[in-house]
Amino acid sequence: MPVPRVVHSVRQLRGDVADARSAGRTIGLVPTMGALHEGHLSLVKAAREQCDTTIVTIFVNPTQFGPHEDFDRYPRTMERDLQLLSQVGTDIVFAPDRPTIFPEGFSTYVEPPAVAQRWEGECRPGHFRGVTTVVLKLFNLVGADVAFFGQKDFQQARVIQCMVDDLAVPVSVRVCPTVRESDGLALSSRNRYLDDAQRSRALALWNSLLAAKQLVERGERQARSVCDRMRQRLIESGVDRIDYAALVDPVTLQPVERVQQRTVAIVAAVVGPTRLIDNLEIEPGPI
Ligand code: AMP
Repeated sequence: MPVPRVVHSVRQLRGDVADARSAGRTIGLVPTMGALHEGHLSLVKAAREQCDTTIVTIFVNPTQFGPHEDFDRYPRTMERDLQLLSQVGTDIVFAPDRPTIFPEGFSTYVEPPAVAQRWEGECRPGHFRGVTTVVLKLFNLVGADVAFFGQKDFQQARVIQCMVDDLAVPVSVRVCPTVRESDGLALSSRNRYLDDAQRSRALALWNSLLAAKQLVERGERQARSVCDRMRQRLIESGVDRIDYAALVDPVTLQPVERVQQRTVAIVAAVVGPTRLIDNLEIEPGPI
């Protein structure tokens, strides 16, 4: 497996990208905030399978955190990240410092698309503006052929796809399935904030999604009944706050009233000091 070449500056990055390009290699990009786990590594594996050169970026993007969120305590585990990336094989790790991405005087932001308005957009004002701005900058820096994102952040993947379409960014977006623990908890860098008791309560998110899927598979078509069941599950398991539990159209992210075609159940809840999100695609089978 190639040991990743770690680059910090735009000049080094552009040089490496130009070398790969002149050798006729296709480039896959995996943007991350580090604290890597198997979910991130699944994106790297997909990039390796589908592209000749894999570039992973590690940058904890300050502009996507709200003023009272966990930017300062967000886990930073660079050494271990690099070990993991060597194990799966990564060509280049781009790990810029803050001024490399946001130099003094930086003042241009990307206004996120309509699909960013609800859910995470409502709960975390400014979050998606930070995401679209940094992701577009990474796209411009790397010029990748394909960029890989996780279904885990379902709304984020839609936001990025819409930005790419609207602004004609020359990159293909691939969305890879959510990687879960054996009991269903979606892997997340924030899971390391959870103590044992909170870890068991956090499973409520997955259980509420499963309950929604089961209800629909048994013929329930009223979104309101399904969402009520999801909330009930979350409350029973003792989450500390529910931000939302909804059934949405996978393209527009608008809530549906009846489940008539492929729908996505989305949930966000707080357990102890930790805010978690998850989602699950639901297909209404024949009744
Ligand atoms: P983050 O470091 O949290 O910004 O995530 C970087 C990328 O990894 C995003 O595209 C996420 O959607 C993706 N990701 C995070 N957790 C998972 C997971 N459990 N399964 C698949 N992809 C994930």
